[in-house]
Order: sequence, then structure tokens, then C-alpha cells
Amino acid sequence: MEQIRYPLGPGRRLSRPVKVGSLTIGGNNPIVLQSMITASATDPKRALAQISALDRAGCQLIRLSIPHQKELEATGNLRRLMTEEGIDRPLVADVHFVPQLAIDACEFFEKVRINPGNFSDRPKNSRPSLDNFAVGRERLKEALIPLALAAKKYGRALRVGVNQGSLSERMMAQFGDSPIGMVASALEAVDLLEDLGILDLVVSLKSSNPLTVQKAYRLLDQMREPKEPLALHIGVTEAGEGLMGRAKSLVGIGPLLVDGLGDTIRVSLTEPSEHEIEYGGQLLAALPPQCPPSTSYWTRPLAQNRVGNAVVNLGEVTLGGTSPLAIIAEIGLNKNPQLVPDITVQQGAEGFEIEGHLLKVYPSPIPLPEAWVLDHPSPLFTLRAFYAQLGPSPCPIGLLVSNCALNSLFTQIQIAGVLAEGLVDFLVIQAGLNIKEQTLLAYLLQATRARIFMTDYIACPSCSRTLFDLEETTAKIKAQTRHLKGVKIGIMGCIVNGPGEMADADFGYVGSGLGKIDLYLGQNRVSRGLDEAEAVPALLALIKTEGRWVEP
Ligand code: SF4
Repeated sequence: MEQIRYPLGPGRRLSRPVKVGSLTIGGNNPIVLQSMITASATDPKRALAQISALDRAGCQLIRLSIPHQKELEATGNLRRLMTEEGIDRPLVADVHFVPQLAIDACEFFEKVRINPGNFSDRPKNSRPSLDNFAVGRERLKEALIPLALAAKKYGRALRVGVNQGSLSERMMAQFGDSPIGMVASALEAVDLLEDLGILDLVVSLKSSNPLTVQKAYRLLDQMREPKEPLALHIGVTEAGEGLMGRAKSLVGIGPLLVDGLGDTIRVSLTEPSEHEIEYGGQLLAALPPQCPPSTSYWTRPLAQNRVGNAVVNLGEVTLGGTSPLAIIAEIGLNKNPQLVPDITVQQGAEGFEIEGHLLKVYPSPIPLPEAWVLDHPSPLFTLRAFYAQLGPSPCPIGLLVSNCALNSLFTQIQIAGVLAEGLVDFLVIQAGLNIKEQTLLAYLLQATRARIFMTDYIACPSCSRTLFDLEETTAKIKAQTRHLKGVKIGIMGCIVNGPGEMADADFGYVGSGLGKIDLYLGQNRVSRGLDEAEAVPALLALIKTEGRWVEP
């Protein structure tokens, strides 16, 4: 699968509907908002408080981590307490590594999530040898048979939930650590379950890298054709918190939604779970009214990150080709150190002037000798349509970013899509953006990897496996490392899924037991069982030893 399709207009893709208790996910139904509690079912007071907060926030589907039998056994009591409180929301069990737990969970939960990367396969980096691909598929089939029987018996839905960070060793060996590998892993499990008569299936393809998320979900329908589209659960893992966490979710979820993909979403934040519902609700509210999907597409190579427009050299700055995206600020917007302009632009009578080169702002791209600038309320579809008709531009293309554009979540989503798809060579930042707008823009640039301005944090949202205060620790690590431009730090709640899911982090801080932390350099564990009190200083020392430290 070397090509990937992008629709030329908005519109909802129709998937096969899935019954989850009283809810229906997919088809023509409104997109379902869901979240996950961090408390264990074995702590009913905390779990109920979190469920109540989610219920009040409008969460329609609530997920619980079920790592052991004891959490499963505690669910009946939790349900009873929910009923006493008048809460009637379907529950989802999140199961890894133990197929029997998923089978047993069908009795208590309306939906059960399994991860094909660890359901019957060995996780990546396991040794001693690579699995035979066909043998692994057969083993998965055997493991899915009793699950399918239980799902049928209780009328439950299943989620095939792939995470890039926990792709199995045999999928990695066959397809690489790639969006194609993620889709292949999901489709293998889906095909086997469908053969076993299970059709109430939802699929997720998550990664902490929003660009990978976008590509994987787009590939799914293409790789499944001609079979009917599956209901999709969309989300970005380990997005972190605050504006950065929201920007990552905006990039990973927003453009998929405007392209009509997604039947249920989970915004993943290292914050109280009800904040996820609040931001998810805002994303859904920003979407245009539902309409039929576009039937026209722009097809481009899967591996292509920038369109490859013609190159123009402007003094020390190069625009176009594969050169880094240039940030061009109008004079008056050069105070924020995170958005120091590469070159400045002056507004003249006829338009913007960049060091003697004239750029004009038009409602649609119009050829100019050196570059074109687009100012349009729907830049994503405009640019895709442009390239679909004309191919790469004979000159660099830029996008005007005004505070009016940044005030609209729908336009923010489109800007995120433009950056994620590499459709422009430079941004012209209009004077007058306030600090919040500038910061959001910087985070969008960082999340799309168009420009790296700051430290990148991959923080898991935490769950009942987390044995330390992840929010507090994340804040502590951020306070001391936020000046390390380009360094990626994973902060993960547990050793079971953390190392795999922090993906391409340079350094990892991973909970390994009660009050114990392991440190990672890339995917290699370099310190084990550190006391929490000494773990943050040890992380800083590791960054220094590796030559990645600079003084603030
Ligand atoms: S990495 Fe975080 S969210 Fe994922 S299972 Fe571990 S503690 Fe839970």
C-alpha cells in the first residue's frame, strides 16, 4: 500500500453500526464521546467519584483498566453503586496480556477492548526469536475462539485496539514499526473475529505521534476494501496535558473528523478525565453539519511528508522543496522567543514584502513570481484540491494565519491538517496574535513536527496500573526540562505498557512498582527500581551524560 487517499471535501463516512449496551457506535449515529477512569474498581469510592464526574460531563462510554481478576470481581459492586447513583452508562473493560480476563469480562462489561499486540502474541523486543508469522496468526485464532463465544453469549461488542507502541514482534518483523503494520495487526484480528461471527467490532489505531495516527486511520479503509468500513474509535495516546496535550489531540483527531472518519473519540490527557470530555465535546461541536462523504480524492505517496513545491532562496532562508517550514511574522510580531521569525514581512500598499520579494494575500492561490500565500477559511480542502489538479506548485506556497483563523476551532483543525500533511512551505503570521494564540500555533507546529521549538513530552493519561502521582511528576519534570528544545521525554505510569507506548522518546521515566521508577535511554532500561525521590534528579543526570542538556 504505497498511496494514501485524502478527500477533497468534508462529509461523514458510513461505517457498520455497533451496539454497545444502549448506545450505537457508527452508522449515521452521532459520534460518541468516551473516556477512561484512572481509579481501580477495587477502590469503589474513588472509581465511583470519577465515574460520576464523567457522567456529569456528558461522557457516554466509560472505560476501566482490568489488569487482574480482582478488578473484574469488583465490577459487580461498582455497577450496583452506579445504579444507586442513577448512573446508567455502558462500561468498557480494557484488557492486555491475559485472554482469559477478556473472556470473563464479557459477563460484566458492554464492550471489551483487546490489544492484538499482546493478546496472544509476544510484545516487541521479546526474545529469544522472531515468531513465525503464520504460527502467530493460528495462535491468535485459537485465543479468539473462546472470546467470540463469550461475546456472542452475552451480546457484547469488542474493540480491536492497536497501539503503535505495543505492536507484536511478528507484525514489526513483517511490516515494520509503521502505520501499515498497525492496520495489518488490526485487520488480522478483525478478519478472524468476523469469521467467528462477531460483527459488533470497533477498531482503534493509536500512537503518541499524531501524524502516524492520521495515516493509520486513513489506510484502514483502503486496506480493507472491498469490505464495509468499520466503526472507528479515534484517539492519540500519551498526549500529555494542557495546551500541548490538546494540540496533539487536535492534530491527531481533528483532521480525521473533518474528513468523516471516526465514530467515537477519546481525547487522552494527563488531567482529570472529565477534561477529556470537555475538549472532545468542543472538537465535535466545531464540525460542520453532517453530510455525505466526498467521493473525490487526492492520492499521494504514503511516505511523502511535504508536497515538494519549487524552491526559492530568500537570502538565508529557503522556501519550498523539503526545506524546514519557514515562519514569517509580520513586523510587530517578533516578541515571543518561541516564534522568532526567520525573516520579516512588511505590509506595503500591494501586499506583503519579504526582503524585496512581493507576496500578496488572495482568497485562493494565484501565481506570483516568487511565492503564493493562501488566506482562506477552509485551507485544508482548498490546498488538497489545488494539488490534486495541478500537482506540486511551481513556487513555494504559504498560509496566512490570522487571529481570526486561530479563534475558530474548525480553522485550527484545518491548519493542523495543512501542517500535518506538509501542504505549505511557510506560514505568514499576522500581527496582533495574543500570547495564547501564538503558543497554540507553536504547539501545533511542534505536534505536526513541522518545527520543533521545545521539549516534547509523551505522558500517559495514567490508569489503575499507575503507582505514583503522574500529574505531579509530569509537572516536576516539565519545570526542569522545558527549555531542552527537541528532546523527547516519556513519562509513563507502568512498566507493562509504558516502555512500548512511549514510542520514539529519547528518555523515559517509567513506574515499575510502588514508589519505584525505571529510567530508559530510548528503548533501553538504564536504571531500575529507583526511589521516586531520586528519580527526577537521576533523569536530569542521564540527560546531561548523554550530552542533551543545555543551561536554561
Ligand atoms: S502506560 Fe499508563 S495508561 Fe498505559 S497501562 Fe500503563 S499506566 Fe495505564
